Amino acid sequence: MRPLIAHIDLDALRHNYRLARRCAPYSQSIAVIKADGYGHGALACARALADEAPAFGVASLDEARVLRRGGIETPIVLLEGIFSADELAEVDAQRLWMAVHSRWQLDALQAYTPEAPIPVWVKVDSGMHRLGFAPDEVEAVWQALCDAPQVGELHLMSHFATADAAASEHYARQLACVKDLACRLDAPLSLANSPATLAHAEAHGAYNRPGVMLYGSDPLEQANAVSRGLEPVMTLRAEIIALRTVGPGERIGYGGRFCTRAPTRVAVVSAGYGDGYDRHAADGTPVLVEGRRATLAGKVSMDMLTVDVSDIPEARIGSEVVLWGRAANGAVLSVDEVARHCQTISYTLLTGVLPRVPRRYHPSH
Ligand SMILES: *Cc1c(COP(=O)(O)O)cnc(C)c1O
Repeated sequence: MRPLIAHIDLDALRHNYRLARRCAPYSQSIAVIKADGYGHGALACARALADEAPAFGVASLDEARVLRRGGIETPIVLLEGIFSADELAEVDAQRLWMAVHSRWQLDALQAYTPEAPIPVWVKVDSGMHRLGFAPDEVEAVWQALCDAPQVGELHLMSHFATADAAASEHYARQLACVKDLACRLDAPLSLANSPATLAHAEAHGAYNRPGVMLYGSDPLEQANAVSRGLEPVMTLRAEIIALRTVGPGERIGYGGRFCTRAPTRVAVVSAGYGDGYDRHAADGTPVLVEGRRATLAGKVSMDMLTVDVSDIPEARIGSEVVLWGRAANGAVLSVDEVARHCQTISYTLLTGVLPRVPRRYHPSH
């Protein structure tokens, strides 16, 4: 077998979920497991959290179906609601909760007769300008849904654009806008994504919606005491498959991007962009070899990448290489740090791990 595995630590997932709950003790924490659990495997994550999470958040009916087929009976929120009116029958049959962010979704709901009233999350566009009703439309929409026999429990939801920033006027304006609406409508509120769950108690509302923090990534611009306690859930583990020493002035890999200055011991590692490791990773991107830091040297190839292991004499064929996560000796390389070297965010790295990389769950489920 090719030595590349994404190890998923479900105890770490539960630990991170409990951190979210401890941050927001007066709010319910919906575990967001869209995009296949941010690349970790949605069903495995749902099973690991099923005893604790009051609900799961997903992006589509397909994602909800995977969970229901896997035996998950917990409520599931469709965070973007339906994509066409004909999805309502299955929303109803699978007992899902749905966001309503647009007039057409409201019309479709009012034209449908469900078996049981459908819990609805009315989405307000408080300043992100992506999904949701304008604040001055919300009262009428809310009233229409209150009057609709198709509709069960009603919630008000919104999403922050800048909750990760240390001080943000944009955040404050969004918060004031939704708080005002919730107050006028006497509506239970759901606002907080991971950064707001971690750092903005005033935004916790009835339900918070942590996503990326569950997987151990710190979404805050400036870490705080809680976010420093997050544990990595995914360890992307490869091995050294070849080693050579090249002289000074040699160029390594495609385009010859990396040029050695001294005799350099180069390890070839069994992971590449064809596995989802970001091709934008710069020379100097950290990896852990035998639990010690080494750096990427040369462009990432499809199935391989090259690392300067000159300072790691114990490196040999078969040595453990952790691209992010926790090494066997306990050393941690955060996916956030790797993301910075790739000019991206942890979300894209985690969701980008491709299907050809087997996931292995601990404890196995
Ligand atoms: C993805 C998502 C979240 C979770 O966001 P994180 O930044 O990963 O915590 C919360 N709410 C909605 C509506 C989302 O789409």
